[in-house]
Amino acid sequence: MRILEGIKKYSETKRAAVINVDSDKKTTLSYLELEKKSNSLARFIIENTNLVERTQTVKKPIPIHGGKEVSMLISMMATLKSGRAYVPLDVSFPPTRSKSIIDEVCPEIYIDVIEGKVRYADDKEIGLEEIFSSYDDSEIDRDTWVKDDENAYILFTSGSTGKPKGVQISANNLHSFEPWMSGELGINGDETVVMDQPAYSFDLSVTEVYTGLTNGATLFSISKEVANDFKALFSALESSNINVWISTPTFVSLCLANEDFNGDMMKGLNKFLFIGEVLPREVAHKLLDRFPKADVINGYGPTEATVGVSTVKINLEHVNGKRSLPVGTPMPGHFIFTLEEPKGEIIIAGPSVSKGYYNNPEKTKASFIFIDREELGKYSNYENFYVLEKLMDDFGGHVPAYKTGDVGKISDGQIYYHGRTDFQVKLGGYRIEIEDIESNLRKLDEVDNAVVVPIYKEEKISYLRAYVKLDEKYLKSNQVDSVDAKTIKNNLAKRVPKYMVPRNIRFLDSFPINTNGKIDRKALMEK
Ligand code: AMP
Repeated sequence: MRILEGIKKYSETKRAAVINVDSDKKTTLSYLELEKKSNSLARFIIENTNLVERTQTVKKPIPIHGGKEVSMLISMMATLKSGRAYVPLDVSFPPTRSKSIIDEVCPEIYIDVIEGKVRYADDKEIGLEEIFSSYDDSEIDRDTWVKDDENAYILFTSGSTGKPKGVQISANNLHSFEPWMSGELGINGDETVVMDQPAYSFDLSVTEVYTGLTNGATLFSISKEVANDFKALFSALESSNINVWISTPTFVSLCLANEDFNGDMMKGLNKFLFIGEVLPREVAHKLLDRFPKADVINGYGPTEATVGVSTVKINLEHVNGKRSLPVGTPMPGHFIFTLEEPKGEIIIAGPSVSKGYYNNPEKTKASFIFIDREELGKYSNYENFYVLEKLMDDFGGHVPAYKTGDVGKISDGQIYYHGRTDFQVKLGGYRIEIEDIESNLRKLDEVDNAVVVPIYKEEKISYLRAYVKLDEKYLKSNQVDSVDAKTIKNNLAKRVPKYMVPRNIRFLDSFPINTNGKIDRKALMEK
């Protein structure tokens, strides 16, 4: 894999691979340390699992639990070297959510970075430090590394049934995404500092990890504690020398609230990249004003097509125009189109498209399709038809494609985003299936039924509200008083991440019904 080659290459330099700032300490990990520690851990993994053949049905993925600690990156690289996929589990996941993911994966090995321990065969445990000091740190044979169509990582995202879906991303997928994105960000082997703030369980983080470590950049990694404490965050940013900023628009908006966040404060900053949710025009405008030397890039893409598939450099004409900002032109070698014209569901076809959801043929079938050679004629009117023709040859007449569920319009080669076909929302940059929250609410003892609706403020989702009908036994036994919004929220937070807990809860005796006999969500939203 290119990232592992990169780490090896830059381990011969004195460069730092990661500088992590936490509330009480700063940790630097050199490329040499990353290389050697990940070799030791990979060797431990290889020697402590019963590998018979080289197939990933035998090689179970490895969950890694933690936040932004440098050992997260060591663990991720070690699993790649051992030929296995990693599954990042962020510290913010409640235990029931992590457990449901672990049950899905049935791992042989589990790395707990928070505890500094690896759990393996029959519940045996060993400390990470002990592995680093006692296992051989010489190079792992490249033949063992994850390669070709094998999974490099599996990211679990909110699923409408209440169970997270595991998006499988292969070495091939990453080799399609990373060189393109490295070019877009100007990360080319020079000494560059790249911001590393999003959780490793969120696909946006793949951008800095893969572009950065492949090309000898230094990741400036910000812990959640620091990101949540503005004084600490600003002091870290000021001393960071960050050249490339990668975050959600929500995170940068919070920084923009402070006037000091400008080009004087971060003199080396030359690129902003945003992916994952709508980049509001005012946010882009402020950035162009305050950082006149930096490019503002809006990117678009889902986890299922390896983070991002289109980018556009935002200029004053865009921000002064009336339309919402474009989300970019497709990356080379990808055929991106809408099912209906001029506006319809966005379909992405090409080498960045995942093979599907882990252990979930049903959901995979619903969203992942193939465009076959016999269907070519259907697409001959599209402007970039030649890309599809080329892909047909590359993929032997069977091109993988992903139905995004996003509604878009493509004009003059630019993609414009126009919302969703389903109940998926983005809140604070997080991807949430509304039905995931509802299904977990219904699992609570106190709840009979629940409907969650997004509450909009100036065309942006401001927060979520849940309408809850309590279970009869709570009503009958007159326990209603004891079941308040706080109880519901606390109990829900045991099942889903905090960002999925609706801010506002309203209790109802019954739900409004529409003419089809279904719960009338529209009526609820207007309540
Ligand atoms: P995720 O898989 O978490 O990266 O979320 C992917 C979804 O985020 C996409 O399917 C879109 O709905 C949304 N999204 C990503 N980038 C943008 C963007 N630039 N503008 C609007 N929505 C976006």
